[in-house]
Amino acid sequence: METRRIFLKRAGLSTLALSLPFTETLAAMDFQNDHKVLRVAIMGLGSYGSRVADAMINSKRAKLVGVISGTPSKVETWKKKYGIPDKNCYNYENFDEIKNNPDIDAVYVITPNALHKPQSIRVAKAGKHVICEKPMALNAAEGREMVAACKAAGVHLLVGYRMHFEAKTQEVVRQQRAGEFGKTLFFHGLSGFIIGDPTQWRLNYELAGGGSMMDIGIYSINGARYMLGEEPIWVTAQEVKTDLVKFKEGVDETIAFQMGFPSGAVATCLSTYALNNLDKFFLNGTKGFAEMQPSTGYGPIKAWTNKGPIEAEHVTHQTTQMDEMAAIILDGEKPMIPVDGEEGLKDLVIVDAIYKSIKTGEKVMIA
Ligand code: NDP
Repeated sequence: METRRIFLKRAGLSTLALSLPFTETLAAMDFQNDHKVLRVAIMGLGSYGSRVADAMINSKRAKLVGVISGTPSKVETWKKKYGIPDKNCYNYENFDEIKNNPDIDAVYVITPNALHKPQSIRVAKAGKHVICEKPMALNAAEGREMVAACKAAGVHLLVGYRMHFEAKTQEVVRQQRAGEFGKTLFFHGLSGFIIGDPTQWRLNYELAGGGSMMDIGIYSINGARYMLGEEPIWVTAQEVKTDLVKFKEGVDETIAFQMGFPSGAVATCLSTYALNNLDKFFLNGTKGFAEMQPSTGYGPIKAWTNKGPIEAEHVTHQTTQMDEMAAIILDGEKPMIPVDGEEGLKDLVIVDAIYKSIKTGEKVMIA
């Protein structure tokens, strides 16, 4: 039988751990194949929360252990489906108590956009790592508050940018960084779908903070940045609305926007809730090009360059994302394309500039 010391050594624990009572040490950690496992509670048991929960079943480094929900019936279903104990179930009133729960390491916030900031800050204050869905917040000012709160609490803030871990995306980015396309001077991003139910929160300004741009257009913003490997210095944008009933004040239906980069590269993009079949990235350089379609859907992603198709096995994005995020939080791994709060903030600065450009009709410089 394994001795305590050998077990702890195999589990990678320090002598500090040896000084803690054995049962306490083990209770506060979870291991799989000698690797620490990130124990996650999901906040918001909706459509995407369910997708993440199912994907986490196959994660090697992340495990769903808790829920935070406003709907008791969903909690009952999730408890049975994922084997979640009563003591790891919270609602929106009492989840600050999570700070006294040693069996949860991180909370994944998957609620409507307007709730991301207040909920993430409460999670940080409870001393738990925050994983927050995109858009990280409604604007850059909120994003800065979140980054500051997580820094003050000494916890990670990661944004659910699943594409940053997707194999074909990473290969295009690798080739771009290696100069294989030459000087990349043009990016084209198309992000859109026809939105259904007019009563959903995505079409409610108070909860969504905008329209298609907050939800889907942000993929083209983010994609332009990681495909070109630069930060934009100016933005121009134009809004079009064909349905004034469905898309009320502040809820954008369609936005065309352009970004200019320090190298001289330009990006032209479309964000819309009025057309399907828009999930495409195109990157062009002086020596070659890369094209991705679909570029950000749940996959499989299709990607090819001037040299031919890029092949890579399709793995459920959220499974890879959660494994990689566990490695970032538990092992200090640095991802190829960042997913931290600063990264989320960069997209929000551009979202702010896009809305400002629409309002003023002018080119907006980004400091
Ligand atoms: P849903 O409406 O399906 O789920 C949201 C959940 O949030 C609800 O089921 C509910 O869970 C909870 N909630 C708390 N307060 C409210 C409220 N006032 N109104 C509505 N729901 C509330 O949305 P999605 O799951 O599609 O989206 C959630 C977030 O995930 C969004 O920020 C979205 O941008 C992001 N997302 C990201 C994707 C990605 O690929 N990275 C894909 C899809 C969404 P409960 O009943 O448990 O309280």
